[in-house]
Amino acid sequence: MKNVKMGKSDLHVFPIGLGTNAVGGHNLYPNLNEETGKNLVREALKHGVTLLDTAYIYGVGRSEELIGEVLREFNREDVVIATKAAHKKTGDGFVFDNSPAFLKTSVDESLKRLKTDYIDLFYIHFPDEHTPKDEAVGALDELKQAGKIKAIGVSNFTIEQLKEANQNGLVDVLQSEYHLLSREAEQTYFPYTQEHNISFVPYFPLASGLLAGKYNENTTFPEGDLRREMEQFQGSRFQENLKKVQQLTSIAEKHNVGIAHIVLAWYLARPEIDMVIPGAKHAAQLKDNLKAVEIQLSQAEIAFIDQLFVN
Ligand code: NAP
Repeated sequence: MKNVKMGKSDLHVFPIGLGTNAVGGHNLYPNLNEETGKNLVREALKHGVTLLDTAYIYGVGRSEELIGEVLREFNREDVVIATKAAHKKTGDGFVFDNSPAFLKTSVDESLKRLKTDYIDLFYIHFPDEHTPKDEAVGALDELKQAGKIKAIGVSNFTIEQLKEANQNGLVDVLQSEYHLLSREAEQTYFPYTQEHNISFVPYFPLASGLLAGKYNENTTFPEGDLRREMEQFQGSRFQENLKKVQQLTSIAEKHNVGIAHIVLAWYLARPEIDMVIPGAKHAAQLKDNLKAVEIQLSQAEIAFIDQLFVN
């Protein structure tokens, strides 16, 4: 499959990127091994992945640092780095800040951690309460003019905040939660992103592993794992989700792949989605996920999956 363009930007990426919240994201997953994380990034780039999705908050800078170390082994121009910021450290936690001053400092700090002189795609990770969104994006546009970033993204913005942010047509990419178990984006965002040529990058494409078809009713997660808190992993909801996912088995068998690949292929078959960024805990998972780009789902299979996961 050929590279796809990210919105109005000049960025072109392989349709399967790598989500790196498990690369140095010690605050999100317990017992992460940093060498495994670096190897994940290395293997991804070796096997044709070009888009790496990271953020300051993944390990509070550690994910960016580890990616920066691996980046030195490759040609910088062959990699598209997306990172995000908005979390401002306070005494005992974080608050969101979208002020121009904070975003500009954040970009400079990300550049240092990534050991590079430009960031391909910089996202405002979460909206704050006070900054007008067009002002925040205006600050990113100044950084773009200065060559520090190449494209502008926003993440976790409501549709109203996205419209405000994009008043001057400056937003290239929106990243928000979307997967078969959570499809509100089809109504809220897709009409607008399609009309305004904004790439929609869905996060949690595998619903944090639930859509990979490997869990069963006895699956539990260790203390500190973010899935312990997630709604789709709770009680009867979890059991219903497992049953739906199991119904994808026959389609997966027909294509001789796993359920995760069928799910990723279903997203890529949608006109509103050009790329996905599944996360992985080790290189084998990531290499496995690349199979999704080869799958051609039939119209009947696409419709079956659509109906199965109506929500
Ligand atoms: P995800 O892509 O839905 O799920 C990834 C998890 O699924 C992996 O960590 C692995 O978990 C399992 N998995 C992946 N490939 C598999 C395979 N082939 N077979 C079996 N299991 C497989 O969730 P995510 O990693 O949290 O989200 C993706 C990316 O989106 C993140 O890395 C991050 O870059 C981005 N994100 C952004 C935001 C935001 O606010 N903008 C929020 C969340 C995530 P196990 O092996 O542990 O089961």
